[in-house]
Amino acid sequence: MEYSARLNKSIYHSYMTLEQPEDMIQCMYIWIDGTGEFLRSKTRTLDASPKDPSEIPSWNYDGSSTGQAEGSNSDIYLKPVAIYRDPFRRGKNILALCETFKYDGRLTETNLRHTSKEIMDKVKDDVPWFGMEQEYTLLTQDGHPFGWPKQGYPGPQGPYYCAVGPTNVYGRDVVEAHYRACMYAGVKISGSNAEVMPAQWEFQVGPCEGINMGDQLWIARYILQRIGEDFGVVVTFDPKPMEGDWNGAGCHTNFSTKAMREADGIKAIEDAITKLSKRHSLHIKAYDPKGGMDNRRRLTGAHETAHIDDFTAGIANRGASIRIPRQCAEEGKGYLEDRRPSSNCDPYKVIELLARTVILGE
Ligand code: ADP
Ligand code: MN
Ligand code: MN
Ligand code: MN
Repeated sequence: MEYSARLNKSIYHSYMTLEQPEDMIQCMYIWIDGTGEFLRSKTRTLDASPKDPSEIPSWNYDGSSTGQAEGSNSDIYLKPVAIYRDPFRRGKNILALCETFKYDGRLTETNLRHTSKEIMDKVKDDVPWFGMEQEYTLLTQDGHPFGWPKQGYPGPQGPYYCAVGPTNVYGRDVVEAHYRACMYAGVKISGSNAEVMPAQWEFQVGPCEGINMGDQLWIARYILQRIGEDFGVVVTFDPKPMEGDWNGAGCHTNFSTKAMREADGIKAIEDAITKLSKRHSLHIKAYDPKGGMDNRRRLTGAHETAHIDDFTAGIANRGASIRIPRQCAEEGKGYLEDRRPSSNCDPYKVIELLARTVILGE
């Protein structure tokens, strides 16, 4: 990958600025592979700009190469469900996020969007809003955190969070490029910051209503990986990339319903926390792609986390499972923050469970 980052970008640019035929639009089909964690993509030419994902033809791919099918019956179908502008190819070219189906129409095991969308349709009248804080870590080719000394460690945590200055900030170009690319694409990116561990960063997406949250976060992750290719920097969503006294990476999920946002909404927030307290282990199982195993490395009770086996809630408490932001407590309305989801969580699953537990009261 470092090799592709070193290719001559001005030669590349001379091709990429060639005039493109009006009736040839590049559509990048993007989908979640069999890990439930990583993305794949491939391109097809369309002859007109689709106004809606349903106008983009379904397609297929070899599921035996993505951990989603046997070699003997390997076709997996792609159904485009959301469109974004392509910040890499620009012009009329697009990114199309897809759901995946087996040959007989059944969902693939990692198509968690489908059920999530059914739940979101059910709870539509409660107008659920989500905002997700995606943390991630930059690494060099060899898996070492980007900018860390090759031997030993950088100084202890303290000066890096929201830092400025060359000794405390590692890899800002990636973050800035990603922010612009997301805005161009049509992702509702709402902020970014350097994190507590050097080379760790966060961006926020939201608030987004319903299923849109999952779509937007997955596309934002895809864009980040592509930018990583261009710079020759590895992006990892591993929830605990460095053992020891280094913060892990989460995907805090902020959540509100119409009732929570209205006057006295704090009652609905407290009611939600009571419901969440009764389904802690169910949520933990769904908050990382390995049924809680990934989060076990991260939710230790230290480094601004609650222990994975405990459910706690508190105002402005960053050591709790659920935090009520101070401002919401003061205004008596707003939203809650679920701090448990892992950085590599599937947002479709996280928002589905929040809606089921809090709104449907399952
Ligand atoms: P933190 O203080 O935990 O670091 P951030 O500023 O990083 O918080 O992220 C806050 C997130 O909450 C943003 O993604 C924002 O879109 C989202 N958010 C704000 N208001 C609401 C709301 N009413 N419902 C759901 N999400 C919200
Ligand atoms: Mn944050
Ligand atoms: Mn953070
Ligand atoms: Mn947070």
